[in-house]
Amino acid sequence: MNRLVLKDCKHGRGVFTTQAINTGNEVLQFGGSIVGSDQLPNPYLADNDYYLQIGDKIFLGPSGDIDDYVNHSCCPNTGVLFDSGVIKLVAVTSIPAGSEITFDYSTTMDNSPWEMDCSCLSRNCRHKIKNFVELEFEIQARYIQLGIVPDYILQKFFANSSVIRKHTSKWMPCNFYRSSVAP
Ligand SMILES: [Zn+2]
Repeated sequence: MNRLVLKDCKHGRGVFTTQAINTGNEVLQFGGSIVGSDQLPNPYLADNDYYLQIGDKIFLGPSGDIDDYVNHSCCPNTGVLFDSGVIKLVAVTSIPAGSEITFDYSTTMDNSPWEMDCSCLSRNCRHKIKNFVELEFEIQARYIQLGIVPDYILQKFFANSSVIRKHTSKWMPCNFYRSSVAP
């Protein structure tokens, strides 16, 4: 699986695919040590510290490999899937060769100790990367529908949102991923 390369891009460095990837296919697996939120770097430098939240106050530290460099986008082409203990990125749209691989950091963020400015330049850029709970309902619904929101967020989300079930049948197909090809 040598189709991913690290390249300079508008966010410093990013991960790019040299081959087209079909929707639903695995793009990469995350590695690294599991740490508690009390072991995070302090101060946390979101641009340089590569920690992925994987549970309530649980994070996956940097692996030293290419998975550390996947950038955020508000219009991502992959999502994080927790699959029997393996944490991976899967394509949520078809990804042309040459594209930058991105995911929406907010899909894993719950009570996050940081937030970040965003300059991803997608047409739906939110300008701030915050906790999942702070996203607009339509975006939350889309990510839940795609199956890329982890259980530790879903459990709280459904516990607090009786309105969600009522509206489930009204979720509309969304095309906002279609602009996700990297410039
Ligand atoms: Zn953005």
